[in-house]
Amino acid sequence: MKLELPPRVSDKAFAKALDAFAGVVGKQWVLATDEDRDTFMDYYAAGDADQHVPSAAVGPQSVEEVQAIVRIANEYKVPLWPISRGKNLGYGAAAPCMSGTIVLDLGRMNRILDVNERFGYCLIEPGVGFFDLFNHLQENRFKLWMSIPANAWGSVVGNALERGYGYTPYGENTRNICGLEIVLPTGNLVRTGNGAMSNSASWQLFKYGFGPSWDQLFCQSNFGICTKMGMWLMPEPEATLGLNIQLPNPDDVGWAVDELAPLRMRGVIEQSPSIGNSLRFVASRTQRSEWYSGDGALPDDLLVEILKKNNLGWWTINLRLYGYDEANEVHARVIKEAFAKRTKQEFEVVKWHRGEPIENSGAGVPATNALQIINWRGGRGGHIGFSPILPANSEAVLKQFHSTKKRYEEIGVDYYGSFTLFERYTTNVNMMVYDRDNAAMTSKVRALFKVLIADAAKQGYSEYRTHLSYMDDVALTFDFNKHALLRLNETVKDALDPNGILAPGKQGIWPKALRTERA
Ligand code: ADP
Repeated sequence: MKLELPPRVSDKAFAKALDAFAGVVGKQWVLATDEDRDTFMDYYAAGDADQHVPSAAVGPQSVEEVQAIVRIANEYKVPLWPISRGKNLGYGAAAPCMSGTIVLDLGRMNRILDVNERFGYCLIEPGVGFFDLFNHLQENRFKLWMSIPANAWGSVVGNALERGYGYTPYGENTRNICGLEIVLPTGNLVRTGNGAMSNSASWQLFKYGFGPSWDQLFCQSNFGICTKMGMWLMPEPEATLGLNIQLPNPDDVGWAVDELAPLRMRGVIEQSPSIGNSLRFVASRTQRSEWYSGDGALPDDLLVEILKKNNLGWWTINLRLYGYDEANEVHARVIKEAFAKRTKQEFEVVKWHRGEPIENSGAGVPATNALQIINWRGGRGGHIGFSPILPANSEAVLKQFHSTKKRYEEIGVDYYGSFTLFERYTTNVNMMVYDRDNAAMTSKVRALFKVLIADAAKQGYSEYRTHLSYMDDVALTFDFNKHALLRLNETVKDALDPNGILAPGKQGIWPKALRTERA
């Protein structure tokens, strides 16, 4: 990709900044060729990769180097976009929101600084991947489990900061954060929570500290660069009991949510079960052209035929109970009774006990095969996810399911969605899978995304996380009192980042000097 300079920065200032970065990290860690820029682009982009082009990347390996880079960025007013491992696929990958921003790649800072089995926590640097931490826990026989998202290529820190989730009782990684170390946009270093006390004996034990509690202010924000994260890990349970079921009809998702949501809220089910349409299993194993060559979305009757051939129902639910055998048995009985009122389908039961291979346990075990779905449409594939938060009840879920499916059909994309149940809400991830080289297809997907945001906003639904291209659109749906929340965010932004150098535009938050860049 050709060089695109950031706003406000001359050729000369840009070159000087890169030289100064090289003085800090060494020349080989300042990446600024056309090929380097390609590496940090959004490689799943729906035809809009050129909207988010980095001008360079820089790779520090210590906190002091990060601080030095931030000070130089302030001097030359060059914007920085921190990433941990840059695998934020479907949301923009390693690319920055505003073109010309320099990617601050923290992947070299990948030490696991502490694991405490007794109190169930770790302290890690941003470059630690899910595979790294998992292997470390396994090799050292720590009886601690992680929560891992479907695609585990990325980092633990990046996922927690973006509020990604996995499927164990510790599923919401952002909730497990306990204490951060942050380089502020001016280069100052702070520790949050009890880490603000130099000799704290409880940095990873007590989340709140004294006074305002800051951890969540650094999540999905552009207020600071995380250089260390404390994270609670789950004590390995004595046993688990998995319950898997296929539901044959599209509308079964409604009653399934009504039955499961109260059990989730009361803690009968402690993890967040996902009710996903079973096409995902077909899409990760085969290509669409093997089944259908028409232009429009897969016809409903053909879909049912395909699912039958693969021994799948319309929806698949895999849920898992964790704890003592006896408790799991009681909870399983309650769940089975709830379902027996609604369906003749039976649960497949999978049991695991401590000491048996971890792969069958329901512990988070990192994998990347979920990414195979991008091959569904052929060509160079990509996906983007539209993920509104809905109340966990059948009215909301069925209405949203039918209206989204209809919207997909209007543009010829196959419906691909899931409802993950948290205590009181469900996250409805709708994947759109496309061939990135099919311009007609990707432009329809981009238009659809905006329609879905508007449809959802009308119902009072917001997204829990979004792709770079829609950060402004989603931020603007939070419109109470003339966007008072956005104004508050930008007031804080200007106070913390007077030169506007850190991740301009992230989450729709723009620094004063760059507010004209808002889409
Ligand atoms: P992953 O490591 O899971 O691949 P990314 O590195 O792509 O995740 O991070 C996703 C997003 O989270 C980034 O685009 C950035 O906005 C934010 N982010 C990631 N790491 C940090 C960090 N260490 N400090 C501040 N923000 C970060």
